[in-house]
Amino acid sequence: MSAPAGRLHRVVGIETEYGVTSSYLGAETREGMPLSVEEAVREVFRGADSAPSGTHRFTASGARLYLDIGLHPEFAGPECLWVSDVVAQDLAGDSRLYSMAQAANERLASHGARVHVLKSNTDGWGATFGCHENYQVERDARLPLGGLIGLLAARQVLAGAGALPGPDQDPGAMGPIGPLRYSARAEHIRAATSEDPTHERAFINTRDEPHADAGRWRRLHVVAGDSAISPWTTALKVVLLDAALTAAERGLWDLAECELVDPATAAQAWNLDPLMPCDRPVRGSVTCPQLLETALSRLGEFEQEGDLLRKRVMDLARRGTRALRTGDASTVSTELDWAIKHTVLARVAERAPRGWADPRVRRAELAYHDLSPTTGLREPLTAAGLMTPLVEPEAVEAAFERAPHGTRAALRGRVVEACNRTRRHASIGWAHVRLDSPPSPQIDLLDPQATESPQVEALLERIEALGPRSLD
Ligand code: ATP
Ligand code: MG
Ligand code: MG
Repeated sequence: MSAPAGRLHRVVGIETEYGVTSSYLGAETREGMPLSVEEAVREVFRGADSAPSGTHRFTASGARLYLDIGLHPEFAGPECLWVSDVVAQDLAGDSRLYSMAQAANERLASHGARVHVLKSNTDGWGATFGCHENYQVERDARLPLGGLIGLLAARQVLAGAGALPGPDQDPGAMGPIGPLRYSARAEHIRAATSEDPTHERAFINTRDEPHADAGRWRRLHVVAGDSAISPWTTALKVVLLDAALTAAERGLWDLAECELVDPATAAQAWNLDPLMPCDRPVRGSVTCPQLLETALSRLGEFEQEGDLLRKRVMDLARRGTRALRTGDASTVSTELDWAIKHTVLARVAERAPRGWADPRVRRAELAYHDLSPTTGLREPLTAAGLMTPLVEPEAVEAAFERAPHGTRAALRGRVVEACNRTRRHASIGWAHVRLDSPPSPQIDLLDPQATESPQVEALLERIEALGPRSLD
């Protein structure tokens, strides 16, 4: 097993909501969708239904797989302490969803239809879905929320997935990357924080659900980011925020220079033009690269202690910031999603009869988010050297079954594995496990970084001693 890399200062978990759509086999000759979205989603989940009930679809890697409101399959990755684990678990989630889609496609072949799972951020009807990040923070740490949200507004652009104009946007408005916006979700964010982000899109969900000892920790729930296809974009999102939180927690920097008067409006303005000046409550206006440059120079001071992977990610953040300032994306063209997507779509537009307005460009954008190694673009782009990998394919395969290093996810995963193997029901949560067949006392796992639990070991022994549950 390869060693983990890119130590984080806290536990981080990423949740991704996926889009599902369908097409006819031989779609070139037939338009439309053979299955409704609901039918397609149910078909994707049909295989997963056979997993033992009662485990809430937690996996042996400690992740949670479920169907969220709005008919989006969601993979909530396990708690990670290393960037390489965050990335491997995120990619393992993608490959789990893809294998579910593949199984659905085998069943659907005789109906002349297929389903596609998309790791995208909006659908053709203006609905948004996406990617949440969760950061463990000390309960008594004083978080400079205003500064953090300003940094998130700028990060939205730096780590955006790139997006063609939506139904309500001017297709003729051109920026440094043509008609592409840097971020898909930036256009939909309306508030700095929200207790109910499904109804009011915000940067941070303030609902207080720590999934841990509430007296000691909070969970900072960032709900603004675009889902990433490039692993380096995922790494960038997480390292930047972890570094900013650490600087604030240690009292090294209060992020005051990052605070904006209206962060949601700033993210939208920068999404088309990063050089647009946006107001701060004090210190005058600031552009997106100026804000990021300030943050990176502050964070650079103590990032000296980071390992090689962290240093490389911080270097990517600096190169990305420069690209936003100069309009020249050549130094990030294989790492940041918006830059990779721009290269791909610009090539298609160049050859298409109607240029950027050609339906082929939209189809190429969909393919960018398609998880299939044949109809999707991640694998071919990686093979062609146009998207830089971050972890080995073996690490992704391992992350399918194995929990990340150094967190309680491994304890949870072992209980799930034992219950699946013995067909025993259990109630599993982020902060507890409990065997239900036969009924047993609940074990609380309140510390996300605790990797050992005598109670869990005893439970595992008990499950082994009980052996498989009879089927009647
Ligand atoms: P919603 O889906 O409505 O946003 P949610 O975020 O509470 O709800 P889940 O979808 O179950 O719930 O996802 C929880 C995420 O939080 C997972 O990615 C998990 O790894 C992460 N997580 C769990 N406990 C902690 C913690 N104490 N600190 C940071 N992250 C955590
Ligand atoms: Mg969730
Ligand atoms: Mg969430």
